[in-house]
Amino acid sequence: MIHPHTELRKINDHIGVGVFATAYIPRGTLTYVFDPLEIELSETAFSALPEPIRQLADKYCYVDAKGLRVVSWDLAKYINHRCDCNTLSSGWGFEIALRDIQPGEEITDDYGLFNLAREMPVTCNCPNCRLVVRPDDLDRYHELWDAQIMEVLPKMLEVEQPLLPYLEPEVYADTVRYLAGKGPYTSVQVLKCERAFV
Ligand SMILES: [Zn+2]
Repeated sequence: MIHPHTELRKINDHIGVGVFATAYIPRGTLTYVFDPLEIELSETAFSALPEPIRQLADKYCYVDAKGLRVVSWDLAKYINHRCDCNTLSSGWGFEIALRDIQPGEEITDDYGLFNLAREMPVTCNCPNCRLVVRPDDLDRYHELWDAQIMEVLPKMLEVEQPLLPYLEPEVYADTVRYLAGKGPYTSVQVLKCERAFV
């Protein structure tokens, strides 16, 4: 489930649509949480889909650590990639705002954490653009992503969290334990699916 203060907007014919903030979203805000309405497709279920639907599922899914393709039931599936994204998936599965997001600003994240089946060219034109996101980006960039998340996580307890009622209670408890110095940090490396994709 995506943060409620968001809307879908057409960007252009090439990129298509994107998700934009309709209100100020401060850094540390959860911008996506996994919820039970998400569509989870096993490899078998994915393969059994009719071709046009399978293409849609492939385009809009992310792949979790168990190898399930997750297609969001709401706007979350339309979030675009930027190498200098303003939100990022954490090892706990939720996404968190890395910076203050202004009303009208596009919400972006990094597809490198999504267990891509193949390389995907990106055209974000951001400074230091990686130009392509790769299936093994988690191996390359996990330290950088963890550092970004660890820096912003303490803010999580200080800002309004509209998605908190939808976050799995054990995930929240685990995060709070870490922030209290009583539990381990969960690296984004746990998001990696070890199963090879065809
Ligand atoms: Zn880029």
